[in-house]
Amino acid sequence: MLVDAHLHWQDPRLERCLPDLRQILTTASVGMAVVNGTSEEDWAKVHGLGKQSDRILCSYGLHPWYIHERSLRWLENLGHWLKQDGTPVGEIGLDRWLRKDNLEEQVEVFLAQWSLANEHKRAVTVHCLKAWGRLLELVESHPHEGPGFLLHSYGGPVEMVPEFLNLGAYFSFSGGFMHPRKSRQLEVFKTIPMERLLLETDAPEMLPPSDWCFCPLSDTESGKAINHPGNIRAIYEFVSSEWGISHQKLQEQLGCNARSLFAPSWQL
Ligand SMILES: [Zn+2]
Repeated sequence: MLVDAHLHWQDPRLERCLPDLRQILTTASVGMAVVNGTSEEDWAKVHGLGKQSDRILCSYGLHPWYIHERSLRWLENLGHWLKQDGTPVGEIGLDRWLRKDNLEEQVEVFLAQWSLANEHKRAVTVHCLKAWGRLLELVESHPHEGPGFLLHSYGGPVEMVPEFLNLGAYFSFSGGFMHPRKSRQLEVFKTIPMERLLLETDAPEMLPPSDWCFCPLSDTESGKAINHPGNIRAIYEFVSSEWGISHQKLQEQLGCNARSLFAPSWQL
């Protein structure tokens, strides 16, 4: 069975795929899809998706893009969604690409969630854009105390890979890195030990190159191509051929990694 380590099935752009959710997971042989909440508003929706299929692992967090919308009780609310045993925290993070002016507020929100994850010994999924030095500093000064953390769609430098590995990081590769223009990041991923690698669609974002879009989909409003969760199969095929590892071995190793990080008792 395949693992999609990071996606956003609650995104309104994927709404029209929802009636087929179970069928999509079955057809693509996905045994675990980690659906990441990003704002206080979408946590209930993520929870609802988890009820639809036992192949969905719900994760809850406040993404740096949405911190300005948070309520006064946001951390308490997050604690509520973490009551279920083992529920991971994410997507949380730092982003100096979209906004540079509120980094200190982002840090404060990140650390509050990071500490909550430590308190409950939970895995964390981290988004980071153009803030790698600061992220490393924070993780060094506030060591992770759970089963590990995932740097999703890792876009950082190769030099930081060993440092993050020592601190407990896993790294997930997404379809966006399959484009020839991203070949440098592909080389960075090849330095990551197999036992710390995961794959993700990040659907509806991170569209793979068109010849790898096994499941084409477009946004009904803009007409633009968006990433379909079923494209996880293409990412497995790509990595299997680029890394020179059989599909079977890749599946087994990544299944093992996903269990160690997210859910030791999960059937894959
Ligand atoms: Zn995401």
